[in-house]
Amino acid sequence: MIELWIATTNHNKIKEIKNIIHLFYKNYSKGTELSKFLFLKSTKDLKNYSPPEETGVYFTDNAKIKSRHLLNNLMEQRTLTQPLGILSEDSGLEVESLNGAPGIYSARYSGPQATDRENNKLLLKKLENQTNRRARYTCALSFLFIEEERESSKLFEAHCEGQIAHQEKGYGGFGYDSLFIPRGQTQTFATLPPDFKQKLSHRRKALEQCLEHMNNCFKKWV
Ligand code: IMP
Repeated sequence: MIELWIATTNHNKIKEIKNIIHLFYKNYSKGTELSKFLFLKSTKDLKNYSPPEETGVYFTDNAKIKSRHLLNNLMEQRTLTQPLGILSEDSGLEVESLNGAPGIYSARYSGPQATDRENNKLLLKKLENQTNRRARYTCALSFLFIEEERESSKLFEAHCEGQIAHQEKGYGGFGYDSLFIPRGQTQTFATLPPDFKQKLSHRRKALEQCLEHMNNCFKKWV
């Protein structure tokens, strides 16, 4: 059995990541039963866990900080059982006419304790009278694999292009999904069915690259 730790406390992300991983093993890995060899855990399963400060200048920096922080936490709490995978994620929205803002500050755009609603409101205000509404979601993943006292690390990054609507629409997804219209669509992610987002999202694209790599790491243990 391999433990795969997901380094996020955001339950929406955990849900999406778990769904994508399950789908990957169902569709791409010749029916390999995930539950037979992967034991998925998240920082929610850790006592007294507090997330690290996100001090990086880009998504990949913060993803690295998160995976290293979780590994240090695990090492403090117990002797590591091997092999062990740690997957962390940093993501956000980059708006072209705002020079890439809110970017790495997406979660805290309108303040440290900001709600999605407040962030969306601020974004609409910043884009008032703006005709260029092009934007993209970015997802950076950092994957650490520890086996037989060796450690390997790899980064992945993917995007989902689209534009920002003039008003919020829909109740699905999270974050900026009620404003984000993926390229080629006329509806926001929050309005489209959830499996639509699963197909097109930045998180799905980055995770698929990462899962190919993970699979190679896990191969000899399965
Ligand atoms: P993080 O937890 O520091 O990576 O912050 C991610 C923030 O980016 C979230 O709180 C959202 O505001 C935004 N974000 C990232 N991915 C998505 C997505 O798939 N949909 C909507 N908003 C997202």
